[in-house]
Amino acid sequence: MLMNENIISPELAARLADLYTRMAGAYDLVAGELAFTCEGCPDNCCDSLFLHHTLIEWAYLWQGLQELTPEALHKIKARAKRYLSDATGSMAKGERPQIMCPLNDDGLCGLYQHRLMICRMHGVPAKITRPDGQALQFPGCFRCQELTVGREKVPEVDRTELYQELADLERQLIESTHQTRPRIKMTIAEMIVNGPPLL
Ligand code: SF4
Ligand code: SF4
Repeated sequence: MLMNENIISPELAARLADLYTRMAGAYDLVAGELAFTCEGCPDNCCDSLFLHHTLIEWAYLWQGLQELTPEALHKIKARAKRYLSDATGSMAKGERPQIMCPLNDDGLCGLYQHRLMICRMHGVPAKITRPDGQALQFPGCFRCQELTVGREKVPEVDRTELYQELADLERQLIESTHQTRPRIKMTIAEMIVNGPPLL
């Protein structure tokens, strides 16, 4: 195993883990109400191009990666490099990359406890009120929309407070490391290939 370097404090890690659990809980409530599951889906969202924006999630992902055996980590790093090279190829052709996440093992998340916020939220209908007051609505994935079409009242996850909490944890991490707020816009593959963030 690797040394646990550049990781977040146990207290921040525990708070992020708790927030992640509550995100999954909010998702499960809505999914349960809609009797919605991913089972039997012809698609797998883990090949969608998701971009991530927080240092704390990047660091926490690396906490999980550092717990893997060197062989497992080596395999994931090789996949991540291939992902980036394939993504560059897709973008050069003007296409949006649709490449399986390097953490996915035979359709399942190989780092489930450390998967990122959007991995926990994507799928069911959701709303968010941004700090500027603008409200955004997400209808859910195509399969979920098939379940909600024509439904008078559609249950949804309100992501607002969950996102605020994540932003708050990010602020605390940055303050504790005396950094200026970095601009992060990365795929999971980039987070892996770049190594853990410097804290
Ligand atoms: S979230 Fe929707 S599209 Fe994605 S795997 Fe689940 S059912 Fe399929
Ligand atoms: S981290 Fe896990 S859940 Fe998220 S895209 Fe990768 S394999 Fe899928």
